[in-house]
Amino acid sequence: MLEGLMAEIDRIVILTGAGISAESGIDTFRSAGGLWEQHRVEDVATPEGFARDPDLVLGFYDMRREALAGVAPNPAHAALARLEREFAGELLLVTQNVDDLHERGGSSRVLHMHGELKSALCTSCGTRSRWEMAMRDRPPCPVCRARTLRPDVVWFGEMPYRMETIYAALEACDLFVSIGTSGAVYPAAGFVAEARANGARTLELNLEPSEGSRLFHETRLGPASIMVPAWVDEVLSPAASG
Ligand SMILES: [Zn+2]
Repeated sequence: MLEGLMAEIDRIVILTGAGISAESGIDTFRSAGGLWEQHRVEDVATPEGFARDPDLVLGFYDMRREALAGVAPNPAHAALARLEREFAGELLLVTQNVDDLHERGGSSRVLHMHGELKSALCTSCGTRSRWEMAMRDRPPCPVCRARTLRPDVVWFGEMPYRMETIYAALEACDLFVSIGTSGAVYPAAGFVAEARANGARTLELNLEPSEGSRLFHETRLGPASIMVPAWVDEVLSPAASG
């Protein structure tokens, strides 16, 4: 359905979710086994859980941060980095993922709407600092020295980052592409409707049909590591696909 239209695409917004990281071996809270299975979401991914047991929560995110050293970006991440380098129009890459696989795959401009494992948020001064170390030993904030750092990850019940930027891009884009998202977590689940309301074409690349699949003009099913490079090829060589 989108074939032949790629030549007219000037502004693309891409949303990536857990599916693109899962292929690199990152534990997601919907996958069986791994870190999440030993914890309840309300214990480790809510402000209330953090207030109740900060040691548990800091330790949980320390483990997830440490686990990043054992995974590598896959061809889907590399393809999106290539798109950033070679696409002549405007591109906004928004991710729900808190890992650093897009950056390690070569993307330099990534909007992490749910924060990042490698970032610390100081609850005293509000500063967000690049962070590689553990937090369970309560290291001081690099700016105000208070020992009040928390993972800079948006928990359930908290507002995602930079929503104004995202909605402005959704209003202006001609193509919205959702990759590896469940379509179940708002506000991201509402992006497709927002883009469509403003006239954009919409494409979903997913391993299996999502809760939001019916909202897209087109859904292509398969592993992100196969589907994303193929789609990027199409965008970058519209004459060949049309
Ligand atoms: Zn501080």
